Amino acid sequence: MEIKRRKTRPIQVGNIKIGGNNPIVVQSMTKSKIDDLEGMRKEVKELIKHGCELIRVAVPDKKSIYFLKKLINEKIFKIPLVADIHFDYRLALDSIDAGVDCIRINPGNIGGREKVAWVISKARSKNVSLRVGINSGSIDKKVLRKNKGDIKDSMIESTIEYVKLLEDLKFYNFKISTKASSVLDTINVCEAISDKVDYPLHLGVTEAGPAFSGSIKSSVGMGILLSRGIGDTIRVSLTAKSVDEVDAGFVILSSLGLRKVGVNIVSCPTCGRTSGDFYKLVSEVEKITSGVKKNLKIAIMGCIVNGPGEAKDADLGIAFGNKKAAIFLKGRVIKRVDKNIAIGAFEKELEKII
Ligand code: SF4
Repeated sequence: MEIKRRKTRPIQVGNIKIGGNNPIVVQSMTKSKIDDLEGMRKEVKELIKHGCELIRVAVPDKKSIYFLKKLINEKIFKIPLVADIHFDYRLALDSIDAGVDCIRINPGNIGGREKVAWVISKARSKNVSLRVGINSGSIDKKVLRKNKGDIKDSMIESTIEYVKLLEDLKFYNFKISTKASSVLDTINVCEAISDKVDYPLHLGVTEAGPAFSGSIKSSVGMGILLSRGIGDTIRVSLTAKSVDEVDAGFVILSSLGLRKVGVNIVSCPTCGRTSGDFYKLVSEVEKITSGVKKNLKIAIMGCIVNGPGEAKDADLGIAFGNKKAAIFLKGRVIKRVDKNIAIGAFEKELEKII
């Protein structure tokens, strides 16, 4: 079964297009503070290595602009850059001047129509796109009261109001993001917005949680929306390293057949036949394969008897026995090696196929 994506109008963000028939973009946000230049350089490099396609950085105050400019001039952002702005429209104007590709604002907290118009006018002049919308935590109290405290209806009303404001200003180069920490609210709001307008949608479950529970919540929320053809870019928000967000994003997309990028690891659940510290071996293989861009299915199995057969559709696999390990290609065993050198031998075979 192939997912039929809903038609959205493509927008330009730096050198990539989001929406339309373009691939669903995986993005993340740096956790480093912008004045921690060394931390930022390292984090951005890692994100790009993991395949991140759009990076958002927080620009919280005036002094951040100096560091933002410095990092942009160093050309560390080899992928489009989004400045995350709240409350102060001047930070948006300065970030555009510094050379970002997109501004994320919540028009409701930027200080009125006139200030939004100034941001739009600057963005238009520099071909910079916008990401607009709200999170469930930042709904205008008046709107919330009007909708009798209903988060979903309030978020839809505010978002459509923002869309109308931008359209009034004849600005169309934007995507929409409406995120709630409740999975069900996120699904309902995004679906309703997608029914009403055709701007690209950014998906995310805000404040999803730590890596384990956050990835599950995000997968459920985004998975349901993506399976209905909704979503043009995603971020898996995790209380974890930003590269984990990128890895999780690609797993969600590839599990639905929406992107074929990187390694899809399948490993057996283990049973009474498994020997030794299998979890450790799996995490070692995971480490070796992280960052591989080629679309590959890699199997890691806990016994030699059933492993290769159970994973015969994997491009490359390894099955661990008591003392030996078998390395196999599409279910055909090509090598049997001692278990203590198995990871190295597997790595060599992986290099051959990438
Ligand atoms: Fe058990 Fe072997 Fe199947 Fe893993 S591959 S679940 S160890 S039978």
